[in-house]
Amino acid sequence: MADSGKMVIISGPSGAGKSTLVRELLRTSSLPLELSVSATTRSPRHGEIDGVNYFFLDHAEFDRRRREGDFLEWKEVFGRGDFYGTPRAAVYSGLRQGKWVVLEIDVEGAMAVIGEFPESISIFIHPGTAEELERRLRGRGTEDESSLQRRLQVAAREMTFVGKYRHQVINDDAARAIQELDRILRVYQ
Ligand code: ADP
Ligand code: 5GP
Repeated sequence: MADSGKMVIISGPSGAGKSTLVRELLRTSSLPLELSVSATTRSPRHGEIDGVNYFFLDHAEFDRRRREGDFLEWKEVFGRGDFYGTPRAAVYSGLRQGKWVVLEIDVEGAMAVIGEFPESISIFIHPGTAEELERRLRGRGTEDESSLQRRLQVAAREMTFVGKYRHQVINDDAARAIQELDRILRVYQ
């Protein structure tokens, strides 16, 4: 892999708890983890900060960066006109500095990155049950009904990719799942 860093890929359906687990892992782990901040054309949610949660771009700017090859991978994740992409330069810079760069991306983006970085540590976050996933998405209160339904549809498809990941973590209990993530990563030290 590019110098001494490692690529850590976290995927799983929207609402599975990826952001929650990754945020806590970054706060508590002693590993040199660095979150890759993606670009997106979707609107910021209440409390989301540009450059922290995402780089929020308009479609023209996203498209310009995509054409210039700025993204390691990119995808229209929910097929509703919102694009997401991983900025290449920041990932490479992290790897060069020996960081373990954490990508929180969808299953197809993950397959593209694994194609380019076969040694990636890939982890699929499973919500437990479909009912629990819906409960979490509703509980988060960030989606209107049509966006929520679309996310549930896409979730069913995303679950079929679980076998393509090196590891699977069931996020039934967040504290336990964070410990398990940390344990998985430590094996690669
Ligand atoms: P994702 O990043 O995968 O879309 P989030 O991290 O936003 O998911 O989590 C979705 C919702 O579920 C949030 O409201 C979060 O607080 C909640 N959540 C996350 N993990 C758990 C868990 N283990 N048990 C119960 N609720 C959880
Ligand atoms: P949300 O809109 O809930 O923040 O994210 C929706 C989904 O987009 C997440 O499940 C996440 O996996 C995916 N995603 C976020 N950033 C990227 C990215 O840079 N590339 C790809 N392919 N997917 C992303």
